[in-house]
Amino acid sequence: MAENAPLICKDIHKTFNDNEVLKGISLETRKGDVVSLIGSSGSGKSTFLRCINLLETPTAGEVIVHGEPIRFKHNRRGVRIPADNKQVELMRAKLSMVFQSFNLWSHMTVMENIIEAPMHVLKVPKKEAIERAEAYLHKVGIYERKDYYPSHMSGGQQQRAAIARALAMEPEVMLFDEPTSALDPELVGEVLRVMQSLAEEGRTMIVVTHEMAFARDVSSQVLFLHQGRIEEQGTPDKVFDNPDSERMKQFLAPKF
Ligand code: ADP
Ligand code: MG
Repeated sequence: MAENAPLICKDIHKTFNDNEVLKGISLETRKGDVVSLIGSSGSGKSTFLRCINLLETPTAGEVIVHGEPIRFKHNRRGVRIPADNKQVELMRAKLSMVFQSFNLWSHMTVMENIIEAPMHVLKVPKKEAIERAEAYLHKVGIYERKDYYPSHMSGGQQQRAAIARALAMEPEVMLFDEPTSALDPELVGEVLRVMQSLAEEGRTMIVVTHEMAFARDVSSQVLFLHQGRIEEQGTPDKVFDNPDSERMKQFLAPKF
């Protein structure tokens, strides 16, 4: 069972200088899981996602993708680093990330943005990469924007292009870091609807979000982080309706 888990994280720690930002986070996913990560600003949500796809190297702990552990070593100064950059590049392709600020390449069209990594990292032939990109652009509803530059599209369209780009890597797990936080309120729904449709197709997703309705309705697991630890964890019903933690109760209390 664990062999086939898309992603397992075991006791992830991350320290920046003397600041221990993650104090042992573990997570096991099954195929099709949608895990919502919630918590106050500064609780370590982004750092955890960045450790999962090795944008940051965990100071300690294991990341295992579909049974394959990421290998680490220590450099001459005793700092833990990935042992094999090629492995990291391939793993990152299996764990594609969608960022708050879209992170599309501004000098490339939507199509060019989407085919870049499949061609250069996965060595997909151009014709096939384009066909794949077209299918994902249809899925996210912006096929007619394929030759646009990002700056000529709305934020919601840019984020849907970023989702199509992540999908084009055919990842094992999709990571989303507050994908709707930079959007005008009227554009949030179009992005959440795309994410919901991905969840319904059975894609495995880890989503950092402040959209509590999404976390409640779409997730299979919810993790509430507080100061680098999992403070509450469970099904949405448990975490939202019957939390054990006082901090979780405070987090949910209306703030105005
Ligand atoms: P969240 O996403 O939950 O708001 P973050 O993971 O961004 O929280 O940040 C958690 C803590 O880690 C914060 O105190 C932040 O200042 C610190 N932090 C994050 N990245 C770095 C970094 N590259 N260098 C130093 N400190 C960092
Ligand atoms: Mg963050």
